[in-house]
Amino acid sequence: MSYDDNNIFAKILRGEIPCKKVHEDDFTLAFHDINPQAPVHVLVIPKGKYVSMADFSAKASEAEIAGFIRAVGKVARDLGLEEEGYRVLANIGANGGQEVPHLHVHICGGRKLGRMIHLA
Ligand code: 5GP
Repeated sequence: MSYDDNNIFAKILRGEIPCKKVHEDDFTLAFHDINPQAPVHVLVIPKGKYVSMADFSAKASEAEIAGFIRAVGKVARDLGLEEEGYRVLANIGANGGQEVPHLHVHICGGRKLGRMIHLA
C-alpha cells in the first residue's frame, strides 16, 4: 500500500487537525485517541511516511526506529502505566482492521483489559 498524504495522521503531523499531544520528539508524535477504548488510550506514530510495520522496519533509519521504540516506552512510563501494566498494539492492513494508513501503536491502560481488546 502506498502512503496517502491526506490520511488523518498526516494532517495531524502537519498541524492541520488538532490533537491532544502527550509527547513529541524529532521522530515521533504521541497523542490521545479521539475515541478512547480504555481510561488511558494514546497513539504513538512515527513522523515519517510509513504505512505498516513492514514498511517502517524496511525503510526507516536506525534513529527513527530507535526513537519510535524509545518514545513508546517513555510515553507509557510518563502516563504512569508501568506499575499496573498496559497493552501496546498495532493494527496492520485490512485483516488487522487498520483504519488510518499511517503506522501507529495504541497504548491502552488504566483498567484490566482482558486477554485481547477485540478479535471481532
Ligand atoms: P486503527 O484502527 O487504524 O488501528 O486506529 C485508528 C485510531 O485512530 C482509532 O482508535 C481512532 O479512534 C483514532 N482516530 C481517528 N481519527 C482521529 C483523529 O482525528 N484524532 C485522534 N486523536 N484520533 C483519531
